[in-house]
Amino acid sequence: MDEQRCGSCEEGSYDRGMGRITIDFERCKACYFCIETCPKKLIEKSNEVNSRGYHPAVPKDGKDCTGCRLCAEVCPDVAIEVYR
Ligand code: SF4
Ligand code: SF4
Repeated sequence: MDEQRCGSCEEGSYDRGMGRITIDFERCKACYFCIETCPKKLIEKSNEVNSRGYHPAVPKDGKDCTGCRLCAEVCPDVAIEVYR
């Protein structure tokens, strides 16, 4: 069965993925606000280094993104695009 809807959630979408994000690897300055903010914990620190010497945030694999845009809104460098 594919029915895992949370009875108390006003937004029914919160139980299943509806969104997708991209993070600009070079633009990210590794403040990690997005990692702290994502309610689904779908963003992590990269092991790789960008041209500015930062370990950027990168999206994790997973289909739970709700497209809530909280990560994009908190990013001071406008490095995150949300698609839904
Ligand atoms: S909030 Fe923006 S700048 Fe900060 S780690 Fe996330 S993507 Fe990078
Ligand atoms: S849109 Fe929402 S659920 Fe998706 S990665 Fe960003 S904060 Fe997380």
